Amino acid sequence: MVLELQFVRKAYTQVLAHQMKRVLRVVRQYPHDRFDQREPACGQTARELAEGCVARLRRIDAIACGDIAPLPPLGPCTRGTILLDLETSYLSAHSALLSLPAAHWSEVVTTPPGLRYWMQARRGELLWLALREMARHQQHLASHMRCECQGDGTDGGARSHAVREAELDLVAAGA
Ligand SMILES: [Zn+2]
Repeated sequence: MVLELQFVRKAYTQVLAHQMKRVLRVVRQYPHDRFDQREPACGQTARELAEGCVARLRRIDAIACGDIAPLPPLGPCTRGTILLDLETSYLSAHSALLSLPAAHWSEVVTTPPGLRYWMQARRGELLWLALREMARHQQHLASHMRCECQGDGTDGGARSHAVREAELDLVAAGA
């Protein structure tokens, strides 16, 4: 069980780090003149989506810490603040995940706001759900940069999107 958890924890932190790199790259490189441009397909701006990435990272941190309190409303924030919030939230989540005792990974906890699947679930399952939500959100933000938003949170590259989802499913099977 302990060995299995080490594997799952390692896989989780690797996927999280990968998503984090993608978010940081998009937020840093996003064209300044389009950052507050509202996409007609979804009605959201890149700044709002980037702030949403911070909120999703904080949710992962909250699940890992056992603090499932509602998150404070965010934004509008400057790009520098968003980048700082992304990094501090990531470091906090990463540290919480590494120090999470094995027994707490399978502990049944209350589902945080925004993850409307069950009232309660195992912490490990909620962590994977929260990570999947973050991956989808990150892909939505990336689709804005490519001017390919389709309004439903998925990007224009349906095929590569499906592949990434399948990859995540494969790893999440270890949860
Ligand atoms: Zn959009």
